[in-house]
Amino acid sequence: MRYRNLGKQGPAVSVLGFGASPLGNEFRVTSAAEGARAVDCALDHGINYFDVSPYYGRTLAEERLGQALAGKRDRVFLATKCGRYDTDRFDFSPARLVRSIDESLARLRTDHVDLLQLHDIEFGDFRQIVDQALPALEAIRRSGKTRFIGITGLPLKMLARVACAVPLDTVLSYCRYNLMITDMDQWLTPVAGQKGVALINASPLHMGVLTERGAPAWHPAPPEVKQAGRAVVDFCRSRGVRVADVALRFCLDHPYVSTTLVGMADPGHVMENVRALDFEPDPELMAGIQRLVAPVKDVTWPSGRPENNDYEGCGDSENRLPSSFVVVQP
Ligand code: NAD
Repeated sequence: MRYRNLGKQGPAVSVLGFGASPLGNEFRVTSAAEGARAVDCALDHGINYFDVSPYYGRTLAEERLGQALAGKRDRVFLATKCGRYDTDRFDFSPARLVRSIDESLARLRTDHVDLLQLHDIEFGDFRQIVDQALPALEAIRRSGKTRFIGITGLPLKMLARVACAVPLDTVLSYCRYNLMITDMDQWLTPVAGQKGVALINASPLHMGVLTERGAPAWHPAPPEVKQAGRAVVDFCRSRGVRVADVALRFCLDHPYVSTTLVGMADPGHVMENVRALDFEPDPELMAGIQRLVAPVKDVTWPSGRPENNDYEGCGDSENRLPSSFVVVQP
């Protein structure tokens, strides 16, 4: 495994992170025993970053992850979230967030998490996020129940806008930097760099689009994106290559992202994904993938309140990546 600092001075985290939403049956029905084996396999291969939320499986993923990590809590960087509780149930009020962390700690069987994030902030009111919810997370941090605080969501401009307004440790972006799309680097990476905020990139397989199984029924991408993803999967297979290897390698090469979160509940996938760290893609294969993706490159989908998609930067035109992130264990 390779490790990077979470931001400039944060702890060393594995470049491949364990996304625990599949433990909550978000993609298919999985067993607790298989999920626990996947967690053990990840630990054995040096993965130390685990990401979960009360939303995944409506608390099931936190329950299962807590059970799987019992007795191993001190070996991991544990990240959870608050504010999202169902597909259409959000509550970013300080009172709910304060209750939420206690509920998460009980399910995760620990007295603190390492990172607490507001989950999918685009479904909240911008002023409430900035003026109430993030101060509530700061208060939770002061109470010792989390070490770091952050935000997550899909619309890059709102993530950037909040990162400009409030000191944060992390921003988690998903489905905005992988083989299908790279606009994270246009809207968010420069702001994260300017503000010294750690960047977490989730969904390197575009939430299942870049897998043999294909996208789950709930996947919000337009049909043409799913078709292009299917063409990429077929093309990789025809070249004798696993699409997940190519997709992960692409994300892991990002120069600023601290960790790339891939959803896993299957030990076989954990093994394959760890091996992808050493995969060397052939330029001709990459050119073929780019041709297939070109017609839908950077096509995304709406998420959250319409007013949360209208921001164009930090008021600072410098779009440089910071040169100061540190690779601590090559
Ligand atoms: P993903 O792109 O990681 O795809 C996950 C799917 O790919 C699952 O069906 C999984 O079983 C499958 N898979 C994994 N490895 C595979 C392999 N080697 N071969 C074939 N299939 C494989 O999407 P994701 O799970 O949504 O994202 C990763 C994690 O990031 C999530 O689990 C979650 O922890 C986090 N996340 C957070 C947010 C947010 O905070 N708003 C949003 C999306 C994701």
